[in-house]
Amino acid sequence: MRILVVGAGPAGTRCALRTAGRVPGAQVLLAGAEPALPYDRVALSKHLVGDLTQEALITHTLADLRAAGVSYRPGTRIERLDLTAREAITARGERIPYDRCVIATGSRSFRLPLPGADLPGVIAWRDLAESRQMLQVARDGGPAVVIGGGLLGLEAAVGLAARGMKVTVLHAVGWPMERQLDYDAGTLLANRLRARGLTIHMPAATVAIEGKERAEAVLLKSGERIPARLVAMCVGVRPNVDLAKVSGLEVARGIVADAAMHTSDPNVLAIGECAEVEGRLIGLVAPALEQAEIAAATIAGEAAIWAPRAESAALKVSGTHVWSGGEVAPANAEAVTLRAGESYRRLWWREGRLVGAVLYGDTSEAGFYQILIASGRPVASRADAALGQAYLKDAA
Ligand SMILES: Cc1cc2nc3c(=O)[nH]c(=O)nc-3n(C[C@H](O)[C@H](O)[C@H](O)COP(=O)(O)OP(=O)(O)OC[C@H]3O[C@@H](n4cnc5c(N)ncnc54)[C@H](O)[C@@H]3O)c2cc1C
Repeated sequence: MRILVVGAGPAGTRCALRTAGRVPGAQVLLAGAEPALPYDRVALSKHLVGDLTQEALITHTLADLRAAGVSYRPGTRIERLDLTAREAITARGERIPYDRCVIATGSRSFRLPLPGADLPGVIAWRDLAESRQMLQVARDGGPAVVIGGGLLGLEAAVGLAARGMKVTVLHAVGWPMERQLDYDAGTLLANRLRARGLTIHMPAATVAIEGKERAEAVLLKSGERIPARLVAMCVGVRPNVDLAKVSGLEVARGIVADAAMHTSDPNVLAIGECAEVEGRLIGLVAPALEQAEIAAATIAGEAAIWAPRAESAALKVSGTHVWSGGEVAPANAEAVTLRAGESYRRLWWREGRLVGAVLYGDTSEAGFYQILIASGRPVASRADAALGQAYLKDAA
């Protein structure tokens, strides 16, 4: 069986490796648009801040892939699938035949449609090449503006500051990482980042990026003008669905797939951030890898179904431990809060079960809360649970 995996991000690479290991006699070809070997996208933040070299980002060498039974073609963008002929057409016009094709084209960073958003020096951070561009500008120091105070924006800001830039973060909401943190945890985090030298404007509305040949300043609705040699746009992502669309596959917000990862064509599967599985988009690496495993099982003819789990996220490079899991500040839940020194912990409960948690400062209990949320176990003493696993005696 000829299996073509399109996109060599974490989902595509995992799927190619698992399929090669599972389907006897499979010829697996992994085609990725990026010129690099498969690398750890999540670790780009650590690379930007200077904790990891570019070499250390690489997850698989050509020899690793070959030994696992996967042929790799970097720099190969697939433009269209001919669903009838079962062929993929590359940007260079080459036709690659397949029996099964897995689309794992991921997402791209969204660029706000502002005047000046296309100027050189404005980078919508997503991949290794963009990280290199950011590092190149950062080499000469000077002011940088990060638009977006979500997880990615804060990691960009901390990274650029560590590289010697004077960084201002502009965030549209009143506290950072509002999807993962409640107001109190977000405020603690913002204060800590300010104490470390970042300037943070919240809420802030950006109206334009100014500059003649390249970005020079960011203009706010308030009229304030913030100088910027580099503008990092970190305002969310959009699934890469163009390939699926031009090929005639069903696309909603992402490429429509069922829980076994089948798209509207029986020979094509979709996984990772490009896929909308049973109506659900994902934005984290763990579920993307789970979907890769399911697709490999589906291709191998095994019955496998992807079941979404409670999501969790951690800020990696801020020097401050921040973690959140499950539902954050949901309307119909009771909150229990614990503050001790620099640490803050808030847990949300519904019908005696933990449904969400935010940890700031001390995140040592993150694994425990994640398991508690995922298991849905009833807990009698919320106060004990707030103290941590060692204090909880009554989990049923
Ligand atoms: C800096 C950074 C930090 C992050 N930190 C975290 C974190 O801490 N925790 C977490 O869970 N997630 C994090 N994420 C998100 C995580 O990286 C994604 O969830 C994950 O990469 C999704 O994997 P994917 O394989 O679906 O898509 P992607 O990683 O986007 O990979 C898709 C690949 O397909 C290629 N491609 C696209 N179109 C085509 C085409 N037509 N032909 C061939 N190839 C194509 C792309 O070039 C890309 O290489 C972070 C992301 C970034 C950028």
